[in-house]
Amino acid sequence: MRTGNITRVSGSIITVTGIKDIQLGEIVEAGDERLIGEVIWANIDDFTVQVYEPTTGLKPFESVVATGKKLVAELGPGLIANVLDGIGRPLELIRDQKGPFLTRGIKANSLSRNKRWHFDPSVNVGQKVGEGDILGEVKESRMVPHKIMVPPGVLGTVTEIKSGNFTVDETIASLENKKQEVQIKMMQEWPVRFPRPTGQRLSLEKPLITGQRVVDVFFPISKGGAACIPGGFGTGKTVMLHQTAKWSDAEVIVYIGCGERGNEISDLIADFPKLKDPYTGLPLIEKTILIANTSNMAVAARESSIYEGITIAEYYRDMGYNVALMADSTSRWAEALREISGRLEEMPSEKGYPAYLPERIAGFYERAGRVETLGKPDREGSVTVIGAVSPPGGDFNEPVTIDTLRFTGVFWALDAELAYSRHFPAINWLRSHSLYRRQLTASWAKSLSDHAKEVEKWWGEKVPGFAQLRSTALNLLSESAEIESIAKIIGESALPDDQRLILATAELLKEGFLRQSAYDDADSFCPPYRQVLLLEMMLDFYQKAKVLVDKGVKAEKIVDLPIIIKMKRVKVAKEGEKAILELGREVREVLNTIGKDFGIEFRNGGVVSIA
Ligand code: ADP
Repeated sequence: MRTGNITRVSGSIITVTGIKDIQLGEIVEAGDERLIGEVIWANIDDFTVQVYEPTTGLKPFESVVATGKKLVAELGPGLIANVLDGIGRPLELIRDQKGPFLTRGIKANSLSRNKRWHFDPSVNVGQKVGEGDILGEVKESRMVPHKIMVPPGVLGTVTEIKSGNFTVDETIASLENKKQEVQIKMMQEWPVRFPRPTGQRLSLEKPLITGQRVVDVFFPISKGGAACIPGGFGTGKTVMLHQTAKWSDAEVIVYIGCGERGNEISDLIADFPKLKDPYTGLPLIEKTILIANTSNMAVAARESSIYEGITIAEYYRDMGYNVALMADSTSRWAEALREISGRLEEMPSEKGYPAYLPERIAGFYERAGRVETLGKPDREGSVTVIGAVSPPGGDFNEPVTIDTLRFTGVFWALDAELAYSRHFPAINWLRSHSLYRRQLTASWAKSLSDHAKEVEKWWGEKVPGFAQLRSTALNLLSESAEIESIAKIIGESALPDDQRLILATAELLKEGFLRQSAYDDADSFCPPYRQVLLLEMMLDFYQKAKVLVDKGVKAEKIVDLPIIIKMKRVKVAKEGEKAILELGREVREVLNTIGKDFGIEFRNGGVVSIA
């Protein structure tokens, strides 16, 4: 056994002497309670460890044992529906062993060694297999068939393949390579700080549907893309991440609660078994893995929770799934880096963060992507990363926000003013952006129709006009922002009629389209085709009303119409699309009644049809 002694304790950082051949990244067990830590700095005669558990009471002279292992994630059946802490220990197991508070020094595997899984093989004896090849399948949950893969770096000829019930550490296949036998188990390990190997990277052309209108229509994220949600306290970051975790069309969800309040994660733990996945109707927990490193847990473990999460996400990606990972909040992770760097007495950079902060942030977001996986059969998988950032005082001009924006393609800017006025999601439509927008527009139709067979035909016809719908809506919103500032000076009634119509339409878009309550059962998830129908109805109203205004109809005859209130509310109608289509017809009739005196009659619905 390689044993040393503690010489110094400073928060979560300890210094140790007495083990000569220690390696960077090696896991050690520190003190009488055998707290788990990782070597982050090594000198000739001592080394520094960051401890992933609270160090209260740890003293110099206590012993430290080197394990010879790196920080690894256990990957195999049993991850789905599990809640792990920052170093991969199942919370339930910890609670059962020592109660909710005494969690130090517990050694618990991520994956149960007792549970048996039914393994169905898909290869034969004599077959040559290589890294990433699928050997068979386990029904981990009804939603996620778990593919058992040859681990990276392993290859050979199958000499034995089993079928039946096994624990994760029993051999299910044997391979022979250069006269050496390799035994394959259902579980594999991977060092969390290194990305898992893949084949070629693929372009990001498929949208991740979130069911949130402002995201899907205006600031979409692609499968394999990375998004940053910065926002001050109470602006809705957590709710936004919960919404994407609940409603996105990813096949596997990894949710990391990093340094946030414990009750936010317990809300998820309570909600997920009850909520139904909108695509399959099965309980959401059957596709979800939760990683909880809450604010009362050790600071250093925030780092490990981020890496643990992304490694698990990559593992399911390698099976050929679209995985979405949410991290709340990456700022708490950056703060942990700052604290540890401070204790290491490193030269601080801006706002006290270490100089390597951008490199760490980049390293994390670069693990997002859509890839061809290794191995046969050929398959593609993706990891989409959505990270919340909590800038102090809501000021986006700080290192974590700025560095995150450099490495992510979508920026959902949460706005305190919108949040105060209870406009949720408080995503500012003028400040946010999505680099994926153009690329995604064309492919919306195809990928969405998988989830909306009944509207496939309709969708195929509508989508060519979709890009135009979106830009018309965004233009109206930004024009109205300018008009509003003028209206503040001269008063709204003094504005020209066409500008008053723009204001009223922008208000309609904000209230009836962009605003979407997470707590309304009918509206929390808005299927894509309903999103487009709503937008189309509103813009159809605008374009027809504009024809009237241009012909001399006074704005006040239009902007106070009760039908506008109906349009604002139709998003929550139980009848869904049917109600929107009916309302669209009603809008046309109302405008036709006004148009009669001016010799105007609208015959068709649909923006594109208007002359
Ligand atoms: P943050 O994580 O940024 O501190 P939260 O996500 O906890 O903020 O949101 C704060 C509050 O704002 C929530 O408790 C909720 O009342 C409200 N809220 C946020 N987003 C929504 C939404 N989409 N629909 C309805 N209410 C929301």
